[in-house]
Amino acid sequence: MRALWRDRTFTQPVVWVTTFFMIAFHIGAIAALFVFTWKAFFVAMLLWWIAGGVGIGMGYHRLLTHRGYKTPKWVEYLLTIFATLTLEGGPIFWVAIHRMHHQNTDKEGDPHSPQDGGLWSHMGWIVTGQSIHNDSAVLLPFVPDLRKDRFHVWISKWHWIPMTVLGAGLLFFGGWSFLLWGIFFRTVLGLHSTWLVNSATHMWGSRRFQTGDTSRNSFWVALLTFGEGWHNNHHAHPQSSRHGLAWYEFDPNWYGIAALRMMGLAWDVKAGKLEAPHPVHSSS
Ligand SMILES: [Zn+2]
Ligand SMILES: [Zn+2]
Repeated sequence: MRALWRDRTFTQPVVWVTTFFMIAFHIGAIAALFVFTWKAFFVAMLLWWIAGGVGIGMGYHRLLTHRGYKTPKWVEYLLTIFATLTLEGGPIFWVAIHRMHHQNTDKEGDPHSPQDGGLWSHMGWIVTGQSIHNDSAVLLPFVPDLRKDRFHVWISKWHWIPMTVLGAGLLFFGGWSFLLWGIFFRTVLGLHSTWLVNSATHMWGSRRFQTGDTSRNSFWVALLTFGEGWHNNHHAHPQSSRHGLAWYEFDPNWYGIAALRMMGLAWDVKAGKLEAPHPVHSSS
């Protein structure tokens, strides 16, 4: 990890539109603390799981990026709509960035490696990563499958609509506390949780597999991301729909996929296993 003053964040121009929304959402999240109600809090927690776990973890990541299982189209589209509720962009942007990360992990071409700085890997690449935001030509070759699908092309352009509709609904039915908790606080919590997978689990945690990158397993990031924190397992077995490979590795997104399979809504589920002989453990 680089010293803060050499962090790549400070060498790139600010992306003002993204930065404006990031600041506005953080202000809204702080404002939520002044209108706390338990009802609003539980609405926020439920939406955190629906958007961050079911949407990003089960949808954008394990289904769309890695095709670790198959579902009916309506399930795929529903998970995609849930994922747009996180302010993490549409599926074409998200999936392309993440496939780039797997192809070039911690090397030239990785969109968010802590090799370029810890702050950069967490959020610098989003608020100052000019090239990624402006040069869609770099991203498109990574998502030929999604570009063929009219729904994914459409929702990638209009990804802010579900969030806006949800926000209007929360304001109408629950007032300001529901809006501030269910949209602003919940979104900021979800963003930092997801970003920790790019920053923390490439810096801190244990390594079960000797992958050629810095990926690590982190139980606390797994708790915040419904299972995405078993990131060393994931880099070793990218296609596996199961990230928590040991029984004690809490992985609610995997339980969700297993539940879909039980309902007949998921099939061809790829699931990695702990191989014999015993995998190498090392922690640092
Ligand atoms: Zn990674
Ligand atoms: Zn991945």
